[in-house]
Amino acid sequence: MAIQWFPGHMNKAKKDVAARLKGIDVVIEMLDARLPASSANPMIKALSRGKPTLKVLNKQDLADPNVTRLWLDWYNAKPGTRALGLDASERSPAQRLVAACRELVPNRGGLEKPIRVMICGIPNVGKSTLINTMTGRKIAKTGNMPGVTKGEQRILLADDVELYDTPGMLWPKIEVEEGGYNLAASGAVGRNAMDEEEVALELIAYLMRHYADALTARYRLDDISVLQDYEVLEMVAKKRGAMFGGGRPNMQKASEIVLTEFRDGVIGRITLERPDEWTAWVKKAKEL
Ligand code: GDP
Repeated sequence: MAIQWFPGHMNKAKKDVAARLKGIDVVIEMLDARLPASSANPMIKALSRGKPTLKVLNKQDLADPNVTRLWLDWYNAKPGTRALGLDASERSPAQRLVAACRELVPNRGGLEKPIRVMICGIPNVGKSTLINTMTGRKIAKTGNMPGVTKGEQRILLADDVELYDTPGMLWPKIEVEEGGYNLAASGAVGRNAMDEEEVALELIAYLMRHYADALTARYRLDDISVLQDYEVLEMVAKKRGAMFGGGRPNMQKASEIVLTEFRDGVIGRITLERPDEWTAWVKKAKEL
């Protein structure tokens, strides 16, 4: 597999999250709306022992709204699961989260039996941002350290809904090749674990299939339908003056440009996977 990324302290993080999830009624799993399935941690299901789960597709401002809708329907059709889209511009996200949690555990709630919830997700998916928005104060970032729960507090999202203020940090586990590329394109993979040109070419190939107009417009390209992905990357290099002396395109520089602009959302609102594609990728990975 091209992208292999499994940073250390995964086992410790896993144990910590499993221990902390014991007293939890609803797991809020934060996903990146541009790559919902790839940004999930496949172990969370086992760790949470089938507890009701609220999937929050965050950074929806960067994602393709039509595809976000497909993913929300896909998750909402699963038993014990609710899903909603979110981004950091929403000033009072607590109300929608609370309503979804109440739906998931109708037998809890009320002052006698508060609903206890915890946010879990991979680094950089937006956990601290959401918690800060809901508390209205700055919580010191714990960084990528597992099990930093000293002085943990509970935040009242409603009279009967308590959120633990330390999110559960889990790293992505790359089991599907395309998912590895998508994590890398999103910036969730350490730079030294990937070949940027390879990741940029995969990204371009996907954009050519699904977002050709946005790609063409951003880089002022002519008809790209007859081109290969590396030819498109060469054109980007030319358009942006990423050239070596002698007129050779600097593919590394062009790759960095495309990846940075994708991450910043300036190519457009783009989602790198759809439920049917993801299902096919998983099937293929299992057959290998
Ligand atoms: P954490 O590691 O999961 O706690 O992630 P952070 O909350 O630190 O967020 C990681 C980065 O994503 C920060 O630069 C945030 O500003 C950014 N971010 C968080 N939520 C959103 C969102 O909804 N939209 C966009 N565009 N960026 C976001």
